[in-house]
Amino acid sequence: MPKAIVFTDFDGTVTLQDSNDYLTENLGFGRPRRLEINDDILDEKITFRDGFRDMLESIPLPFPECIDYLLKNIDLDPGFVHFYQWCEKQGIPVVVVSSGMKPIIYALLKGLVGQDAVENIEIISNEVKIDGDKWEIVFKDPESGFGHDKSKSIREYLVKHNYSPNTTNLQTDGNPILFYCGDGVSDLSAAKETNLLFAKHGKDLIKYCIRENIPYTEFDSFKDILEKVVKIVEADGKNIGEFLEN
Ligand SMILES: [Mg+2]
Repeated sequence: MPKAIVFTDFDGTVTLQDSNDYLTENLGFGRPRRLEINDDILDEKITFRDGFRDMLESIPLPFPECIDYLLKNIDLDPGFVHFYQWCEKQGIPVVVVSSGMKPIIYALLKGLVGQDAVENIEIISNEVKIDGDKWEIVFKDPESGFGHDKSKSIREYLVKHNYSPNTTNLQTDGNPILFYCGDGVSDLSAAKETNLLFAKHGKDLIKYCIRENIPYTEFDSFKDILEKVVKIVEADGKNIGEFLEN
């Protein structure tokens, strides 16, 4: 059994920019409209699923051109490669749990990290349906207001690998230590599912955690995450409480 499993958001967490926001702001209806929708999602006036679909529908470029555009413009978190290599060496799975679309995540991971990354990192995400120059997002969980219910994906992953799906803060219950790393609204559905939530400094996920009294620990980059994960894994998770904020 691995000592830990790291579930992570992709956009804005593994990468510095959110690729879907980037497409919306630069090729779609632009930043002011995107921020209005973002506020409506945070205020629960519309669901993430519907707001996100509106943003993507404003992007006129064919899908392969979107991927090329992102490969030229999106940067990787400066600590991610080292973090991923350390996890590989320790036998700790890194699992991407994303509200983005799989071909974009695959292309960015391959382009920014390397071929071995797409072979070793499982991607659980939404898909895309392409029809000529037109494309649309295909939600993994269309019945969920999140489009992709990340908590469901984490529980499904645990059951598939014969671990207990009943996760709570601090109690590892014979499971590997479970971490989740995220930054935004799409991570709200995963925020309570693991033993420790890493929430990105200054981003929406922290606002939500404070509002809902969800414990988390902050990070700026995967350098911070690596430092804390190493300490926690070395202590078999017994020191997780020392890292909790909120
Ligand atoms: Mg994100």
